[in-house]
Formats: sequence, C-alpha cells, structure tokens
Amino acid sequence: MDKVVAWSRATFKTFAAEVGTVPGVSMVRMVELLRERPPRPWWHEAVESWETVDAPLLPAGYAAGFATSVPLVESGQYLNYLHQKLTDIGVAQQIGFLKSFSELDADVVVNCTGLGARRLCSDDAMYPIRGVVVRTERVPLYESYADDSDISRLTYVIPRTADCILGGFAQRDDNATIVRDGEADDIRRRCAALVPELANARPLEVKVGLRPGRETVRLAWDSEDPRLIHNYGHGGSGFTVCWGCADEVASMVGECLPDR
Ligand SMILES: Cc1cc2nc3c(=O)[nH]c(=O)nc-3n(C[C@H](O)[C@H](O)[C@H](O)COP(=O)(O)OP(=O)(O)OC[C@H]3O[C@@H](n4cnc5c(N)ncnc54)[C@H](O)[C@@H]3O)c2cc1C
Repeated sequence: MDKVVAWSRATFKTFAAEVGTVPGVSMVRMVELLRERPPRPWWHEAVESWETVDAPLLPAGYAAGFATSVPLVESGQYLNYLHQKLTDIGVAQQIGFLKSFSELDADVVVNCTGLGARRLCSDDAMYPIRGVVVRTERVPLYESYADDSDISRLTYVIPRTADCILGGFAQRDDNATIVRDGEADDIRRRCAALVPELANARPLEVKVGLRPGRETVRLAWDSEDPRLIHNYGHGGSGFTVCWGCADEVASMVGECLPDR
C-alpha cells in the first residue's frame, strides 16, 4: 500500500479511538464537491466507507459530491492536550533555535522542523504553501464541505465546537505571512456560495499559515548522521498523516534503542 495511504489509515484509527475522550477530537461528515464526476473519490482507500451525494442535494454548479465521516481535530485544543500529556509524564522541554544538529547531545534526534528544514538540512526540495483562513462565529452546521477543484484557491468550510473555519488558499512558493487586501472577502464569498448560512456569520479573525511543502514526505534516517531521523515535509496533510508517521518514527527509534 502507498505509504501516505497507510499513514492516513493509521492516523484515522487513532483519532477515531480518541473521539469522546480527548479534547478537540470528533467525527464530522465531510462532503467533497466536484464539478465533474469521477468514478470514486481519490481518497477512497484512506477511509472506511464513502457515499455519493446526488446533484439535487448539492450547491448549484456541482455535478457530484462524495461524503464520508472523518475525524475533525481542533488543533489548538489537541496540541494543548498533547503538550500537557508530555508535561505529565515528565518530558523535559527546551525552546530554542537550532542552527545545526551538532548542537544536540542525544542518542537519537527526530527532526520535525517542517519548513525550517529547508535551512537546517539545506533541503532545497522544501517550499512554502501559503494558506489563509477566516474564523467566524459558530454557525450550526452538521457537515464540512470542500471544493479542491482550484488547487491554489481551495474552498472549505469546517464547523467546529465554538466557531467555523472558512478557507482558503494554497499558494506555492508564497512566503507572505500578512493577509492581503480582498483575501478574506474572497474566502467568505466562496464559502457562502457553498453554505448560504455563512453569508452573515460574524468574522472573528483572519489567519495566515505556511504549509511545509515537499513533493514527498522525508521520513528516513539521515544518510550521514547515524543518530538523526527526519520527519518533515507533510504539506497540507500534517494532521491527516501525523499518527501514522509518528508510529513509524517510534519503531525506528525502538530498533536503535532496544533496551529502553
Ligand atoms: C491554512 C492551513 C490549513 C491546513 N489544513 C490542514 C488540514 O485540513 N489537514 C491537515 O492534515 N493538515 C492541514 N494543514 C497542514 C498542517 O498544519 C501541517 O502539515 C503541519 O502543521 C506540519 O506540522 P510539522 O510539525 O511538520 O511542522 P510545523 O507545524 O511547521 O512545525 C515545525 C516546528 O519546527 C520549528 N522549527 C523550524 N526550524 C527550527 C529550528 N532551526 N530550530 C528550532 N525549531 C525549528 C518551528 O518553529 C515549528 O514550531 C494546514 C496548514 C495550513 C497553513
């Protein structure tokens, strides 16, 4: 099986088992909207089941929809939970900027520096993929929607516990971390075309982020430093594959530190 599909499946399983017990994790019905109808969604192998949504139930202009139930991870809540878990089991934490791995005195180093790996590992294969989202007040929706047909202007609506996330953009090689004029209105207009209830939703904030892009994830031992495992370059799918990648890294660490 393709590695990304295997990582996605493992991650799906972990998040699904956390629903109801871990803050920020729930399941949501996600509908992918398409202008043309392929035989099946490209992501069909990564989910347990999916169904076709017929055109009369879709927003105007769409020929097909595929629906599935997926884990929804509210990143702030989930990262706080993970951070607390590490603190509770006594993992020491030190914050600092690393110029070289030689600064670290450790038996094993796992490099999860995302876009920072471009400089830290001189990895020219890394590139930013700029994203923008609008966070609005909560609108009671029971489905998430995504239209990925325009690859640099992805449109998506994600209803969360206390708010809604409206997206977005995916602009390759764009490093700008400011919000440009017109971007928030463009996102809101596109999302309201999918879900009219969003037209009057009160905006709370607009955020920009840079996805750590790479043609393939680099999850491998370093070819020169025998202590170093790389795990970066997850692009716009870092949450989708995180636990699958983490399991693989954990077994690599386990092989080289069998007695611990
Ligand atoms: C708008 C937007 C929407 C997204 N939506 C989704 C989605 O729906 N589903 C999904 O799966 N993913 C999504 N993603 C992608 C996901 O957020 C990323 O893939 C994920 O955050 C990557 O995680 P990471 O830990 O590898 O890198 P990062 O989160 O970038 O973390 C890297 C860390 O390394 C640190 N660092 C870098 N260099 C150094 C250095 N030299 N020394 C010390 N520290 C360093 C950085 O400060 C940072 O803290 C989205 C991203 C954006 C921007």
